[in-house]
Amino acid sequence: MKKNNSSSIRKRIHFTYALIYLLVCIFILGVFFALTTYRSASVFEQTGSSLTGMIASEAERSGVGSDGLRVYLISLRSTYGIREIYIVDGNGTVISGTTRITDGIDALLSKRDLLVKYFPQFSGISDGSYFFITETVLDSIPVRLIICFDASGVYASQMYSLKTLVTTLLCGFFVFVLAGSYRMNRILAPIREMTEVTKQISAENFDLRLDVTHTEAELNELAVTINDMIDRIQISYDKQKRFVSDVSHELRTPIAVISGYGSMLRRWGKDDEEILNESIDSIISECENMKELVEKLLFLTRHDNDTVNFDMRPVDISELVATTVREEGMVHPDFTFELDCESGIIFNADETRFRQALRIFLDNAVKYSTDIKLVEVTLKRLGAGFCLSVKDHGIGISNEDLPNIFERFYRADTSRTKETGGYGLGLSIARIIVENHCGIIKVRTKEGEGSEFSMIFRNINATSPSASAAKPEEQAV
Ligand code: ADP
Repeated sequence: MKKNNSSSIRKRIHFTYALIYLLVCIFILGVFFALTTYRSASVFEQTGSSLTGMIASEAERSGVGSDGLRVYLISLRSTYGIREIYIVDGNGTVISGTTRITDGIDALLSKRDLLVKYFPQFSGISDGSYFFITETVLDSIPVRLIICFDASGVYASQMYSLKTLVTTLLCGFFVFVLAGSYRMNRILAPIREMTEVTKQISAENFDLRLDVTHTEAELNELAVTINDMIDRIQISYDKQKRFVSDVSHELRTPIAVISGYGSMLRRWGKDDEEILNESIDSIISECENMKELVEKLLFLTRHDNDTVNFDMRPVDISELVATTVREEGMVHPDFTFELDCESGIIFNADETRFRQALRIFLDNAVKYSTDIKLVEVTLKRLGAGFCLSVKDHGIGISNEDLPNIFERFYRADTSRTKETGGYGLGLSIARIIVENHCGIIKVRTKEGEGSEFSMIFRNINATSPSASAAKPEEQAV
């Protein structure tokens, strides 16, 4: 048996949503970080640009390497939150700055700052400094101006906002997981309920059905589909049960008769020749009955298992009908069989089975006849096909029985059929045969006046059973 997978569905959905949530968080954090950095950087850039103008004016006034410019640069420090300012010439030599250095700028700046020096595009907020670097001309000398702003305040507030955001997102994550888990339980609850009910359904408990009042359309659809499936299984199970009980019922009588005659034979049969003969005849007759029943059952079972073979080949139906009716007349000499038959109707058919179907209708016409012992058989062309009908003047079929006569083991008048020896299987077999020849059966009947069973084959060249031909048509007149 396969393991229940509902928990893994839940885990998978949880995992997917958690992953989506994390990706959204990472995106939000990234956007936040980029925006705050950009905002702070643009403030420093603006300040840097205006300071460049002011320094240029001062350099023009007091000269680039002068003490006056150095003092001016130092004076800018506290006002603009500046750590250091350096003016570097084309050779990398610091020609003025807030701190006096002799070894050039490389000695002062750390490795990362060196990177900033040679690749000014990398300048930005670091753990405490913002480097504003620009190429400019001071007092007719082309220089690089480096202003190192103190960005620790900005950095700290950025970190603070970041921590707050991360905490909020984490709390959101837990709320999300809890709410998701609650929702998931609610969604999966009807599925668990369905599983429980389905487990309880068994052969003894076929009336149980799933609840179809769920709010989710998909679950409703699933419940309706499962219920439909159980309905179908129940119908087929009931049919099967009825079939087995009908078969047992039908076999009980011949077995009882055989067993009765067997006992009689043991007691008196050895001495009494009359009893001996009667018993042997009866046993043979009951065995014949059982053989007939078993053959019919075998045909129906094979049909249900799709293993009935129809050996289709061109058959002269006119000829077949004529000979079958003639034979039937010989078996029932007290009956008149009137034949109105168009000649030369050739049809692709299984000769034996087709004859079997016709015999079923002829036998029934005889079995259910009354005083008028007349059976009329007509074979006529009908468009591209033909119609073969068997009409009797017997008891007819009531409106209540008419829809059921093609059911297996259905007998309209059980007292009469006991007399006639029918099992209620003939018409279901005839129907299968006709359907397999792409035909339909039409019944016209009136209680007390007689019945007419017509086999209609609309296309003489049809080779496979068509779904449209599947249902017999009944009509009471
Ligand atoms: P059975 O072997 O009992 O005749 P069928 O399947 O051939 O079984 O027929 C089913 C029932 O249909 C019969 O029991 C009978 O009640 C009814 N029936 C069939 N043919 C005729 C007919 N020609 N006239 C009246 N009733 C008929």
